[in-house]
Amino acid sequence: MSSTLNHQARQQLQALLDELLTTDDGIVASNWIDGNLCAGGGEEIELDNPATGEALYRYRDAGATLLNQAVAAATCAQGAWMALSASERGRRMLAATRGLDGHEEALARLESLIAGKPIRDCRAEVVKVREMFEYYAGWCDKQHGEVIPVPTSHLNYVRYVPYGVVGQITPWNAPMFTCAWQLAPAIAAGNGVVLKPSELTPFSSVVIARLLENGGLPKGLINIVNGLGPTTGAALTGHDGIGKLVFVGSPESGRLIAEAAARRLAPSVLELGGKSANIVFADARLDEAVAGAQAAIFAAAGQSCVAGSRLLVQREIFEEVATRLARAAEGIAVGLPDDETTRMGPLQNRRQYQQVMRMIESAVAAGARVLTGGQRPTGLPEEAQGYFIAPTVLVDVTPEMEIAREEVFGPVLVVMAFDDEADAIRLANDTRFGLAGAVWTQDPARAHRVAARLRAGTVWINSYKAINVMSPFGGFRDSGYGRSSGLDGLREYSVPQSVWVETAPEASVAFGYGNGVG
Ligand code: NAD
Repeated sequence: MSSTLNHQARQQLQALLDELLTTDDGIVASNWIDGNLCAGGGEEIELDNPATGEALYRYRDAGATLLNQAVAAATCAQGAWMALSASERGRRMLAATRGLDGHEEALARLESLIAGKPIRDCRAEVVKVREMFEYYAGWCDKQHGEVIPVPTSHLNYVRYVPYGVVGQITPWNAPMFTCAWQLAPAIAAGNGVVLKPSELTPFSSVVIARLLENGGLPKGLINIVNGLGPTTGAALTGHDGIGKLVFVGSPESGRLIAEAAARRLAPSVLELGGKSANIVFADARLDEAVAGAQAAIFAAAGQSCVAGSRLLVQREIFEEVATRLARAAEGIAVGLPDDETTRMGPLQNRRQYQQVMRMIESAVAAGARVLTGGQRPTGLPEEAQGYFIAPTVLVDVTPEMEIAREEVFGPVLVVMAFDDEADAIRLANDTRFGLAGAVWTQDPARAHRVAARLRAGTVWINSYKAINVMSPFGGFRDSGYGRSSGLDGLREYSVPQSVWVETAPEASVAFGYGNGVG
């Protein structure tokens, strides 16, 4: 029997879906294709309530047939989109954000229920969604090409042209953020899109696409299909109509996506996981470093690709920092996602919960010591039997342990000591990942020196998790390739086309490399 808490959550979800995702026939549908809500017909997918661990909702996998329809719709809409002037595309993108007006709270509540994220975090994510479309709307009429000073009589110019239709696949940890993060540059560059969210967080992307279309984006330009990776996801990665694949998720799935793309010789961008090092030198301002370190790992219950999951502390302040961090972790308000005071909610799903608990247990078996956490938090309502794990701080961790090497994707921090700058850099780079890192010190020269030597796509100095759509983001090594955000993110969605125009009064056509070229 469903608990009262879960019963209330089901009622709230149904009311939100009725408001946001109901077809004219009164059916709740999980796909947005060619400006219509459509229900999938494949395997049933069950969603749990992260707060209670009980069944919350069921929907059906979209599958290949709906995916094909989505690609066809995007292809058709993309042609019409590119027929508009660049300025008009920018105006439409900006106007489209008005479709979100008045629906922000419902969108945040929907995400909070399904993703298990604190409501205050979800509200902030909706603000980011708007910001990303506003930012990239401004780029629409600024993607001018270049003139290359070639050594011949040719005028050679470069245009940036869209791929046509791009495929995007996103994970469950920040579904609205990742959706807008990839949709906005894709359409600003002139593409149509088919996006598949995680099967665990299917709805918010559909709502965003629908609201943007209400705001004025052309029908069919953005299509959202929901389903499992091996079915709907594989149909997307294998579809010949997709010009480029952009994937946000784990390195394991990323490899499958890159292989599928390579088989079709389609380019790809991979935004994958991390095991980011947060380095605290003895001369750092410790109040700020400790506050930064706990936010770096425990925000979003550690389910963040850039989570600062390895804290490297100079040996002379190790005990003090570890103790202060444990106290800070114990002070975090862990609670139900819809509670306004909650700073950390449950993990999103059972598989992730089990994985994190297993990693903590095997770390302890290998000799790690739990300073705080490592179990269910206390003080939760009786019915909150979902995927909660208390903020966990581990010490006595050695670099070869799994907990120090692999992404946990949960609220687990390992704290390790280093002796000097060289030791800190060595430890920080001793990972297959390369997504982010941070340095805390009051010595500016050291801060820049260390930042330059970290093999990570983003480095913060005396800060953590400052991320903005204007600044390029992405990984090295197993954290992926390609970039999102900023101009670099926009460029991923277009291809340079080089055009040669003969300007000589009497043109001579070369046989082979001619006119001094090559
Ligand atoms: P995941 O790899 O399990 O799933 C991501 C997406 O891939 C889902 O939509 C899933 O359905 C799809 N998928 C899985 N197999 C597929 C296949 N064979 N073909 C096509 N699609 C397939 O990742 P997850 O558990 O949802 O997310 C957590 C991971 O995402 C973590 O590693 C995290 O670090 C990473 N992440 C990275 C970033 C970044 O920007 N670098 C951002 C958020 C999350």
